[in-house]
Amino acid sequence: MDNKYNVVVIGGGPGGYVAAIRAAQLGLTCACIEGWLDPAGKPALGGTCLNVGCIPSKALLDSSHHYTFIRNEAADHGIHVPGATVDINRMIGRKDRIVQTLTQGIAGLLRKNKVEWLQGRGRLLPDRRIEVMPTGAQPGEPYIVNADHIIIATGSVPTRLPPAPVDNELIVDSTGALCFRDVPRRLGIIGAGVIGIELGSVWSRLGSKVVILEALDEFLAPVDRQIAAEAEKILRKQGLDIQLGAKVTGTGSNNREVFVTFDSPAGKQQVVFDKLIVAVGRRPNTEGLGADEAGLKLDERGFIQVDHDCRTNLPDVWAIGDVVRGPMLAHKAAEEGVAVAERIAGRPGHVNYAAIPWVIYTWPEIAWVGKTEQELKGEGVDFRVGLFPFAASGRARAMGETGGMIKMICGTETDRILGAHMIGPSASELIAEAVLAMEFEGSSTDIALTIHAHPTLAEATHEAALGVSRRSLHI
Ligand code: FAD
Ligand code: AMP
Repeated sequence: MDNKYNVVVIGGGPGGYVAAIRAAQLGLTCACIEGWLDPAGKPALGGTCLNVGCIPSKALLDSSHHYTFIRNEAADHGIHVPGATVDINRMIGRKDRIVQTLTQGIAGLLRKNKVEWLQGRGRLLPDRRIEVMPTGAQPGEPYIVNADHIIIATGSVPTRLPPAPVDNELIVDSTGALCFRDVPRRLGIIGAGVIGIELGSVWSRLGSKVVILEALDEFLAPVDRQIAAEAEKILRKQGLDIQLGAKVTGTGSNNREVFVTFDSPAGKQQVVFDKLIVAVGRRPNTEGLGADEAGLKLDERGFIQVDHDCRTNLPDVWAIGDVVRGPMLAHKAAEEGVAVAERIAGRPGHVNYAAIPWVIYTWPEIAWVGKTEQELKGEGVDFRVGLFPFAASGRARAMGETGGMIKMICGTETDRILGAHMIGPSASELIAEAVLAMEFEGSSTDIALTIHAHPTLAEATHEAALGVSRRSLHI
């Protein structure tokens, strides 16, 4: 094995494998170190996103959404499906097969691009050397590789909550919540963040009575207040019992049930669940990386310290994705990966941190880009708002999806789009138009002058843009 590369990437998630592919496309010799083992103990690429994050959660959200449609909405279309039932093992099996196909696909992509996958865990040594420790049932001997440049993409892991230690039986983290083999009758979730409400939606749709305990008094605090209020109303109507100002202080169990105590505005309370999911965020993962010994600087929260361009304090050592500052999102990790590969190849790298879309895959979906109304008010910016409800969209009516709205915020003087916020059907797809417009430094007038096909959900974006200058045609 040639043990010298132009670029060695540590971590094969969406940050790492994408960086490796782009580096190879740019003519650099490249290896990617990844030690992930799937539940059967087989090495797998793809990181959190493919194995236990974005993809498996969306597979279950889609399956459970179909079930809800059949049970609650199909009859309105004149379609009767009496006695629809869920085969949970089959649903989980489908999710597992999707994960397997995609992670194997990444291995194929690395081969195609001549990126060498070094199976194992990487540890930084001085002078851009890395020790690779193979993992798996019969791991080989550790060995050392040398790199001109190192890209660290070691991702993140679930944050632990001391009062609720994960036992992978009654108390699980997001990974455990993606492979329940029965639908828990009473399901508790700590944390009403993105992961908490997505997983809450999955199991609630499949029949669990879901209670979400959230320490903050505000629901979805980072989200635009108007959109968050609409989301809270819709999710409560769907049956999620969202308790705000509920700070979990302790848990106990009798091996069948888990007891959760929490402080709330009504005082100390206790509630009993069959399963409890801890979804209180994620923390950067530098375990076993040898950061201290190598002199790699971390910040006070454990993130690898980087400059705007993802350079660490060590020469020619870069870091990207969840392990550095910024939103913990797969597409942010991937964009940083591409940009760093470009910079290593001596080209300019581009990541527009002001135009990173966020999506919450509840139904309806919640999506946004740019600044919220509350942020702009805080900054004293003058702005105008255009708003269009899906109830006034012909396509949304035809689909029976009339909840939610699109909101566009533009500078009063410049008309430049400062933020777009939406809750509605397929908001995850609709947000792309607003992101593109922001990337081009576009205005509401640009979108207003753009012809949108009829009837489409995207017409709601057009109408919201028209609404910025009080020119909406259908409200
Ligand atoms: P990761 O994907 O965490 O990959 C890091 C990899 O590095 C891992 O494979 C790990 O094994 C490996 N590694 C770590 N240390 C070493 C070492 N020393 N040597 C070798 N390998 C090492 N984001 C979205 O954008 N959209 C979503 O819909 C979404 N849904 C999510 C749902 C859930 C339930 C979860 C948990 C996360 C979700 N995320 C979503 C977040 C997304 O998964 C992360 O932002 C993304 O995976 C970060 O990519 P990354 O490459 O930085 O790290
Ligand atoms: P996110 O960071 O988006 O994954 O969201 C995690 C959520 O968990 C945040 O909204 C936190 O306020 C919430 N949280 C953190 N600790 C607790 C706790 N002890 N009890 C209840 N909620 C918590």
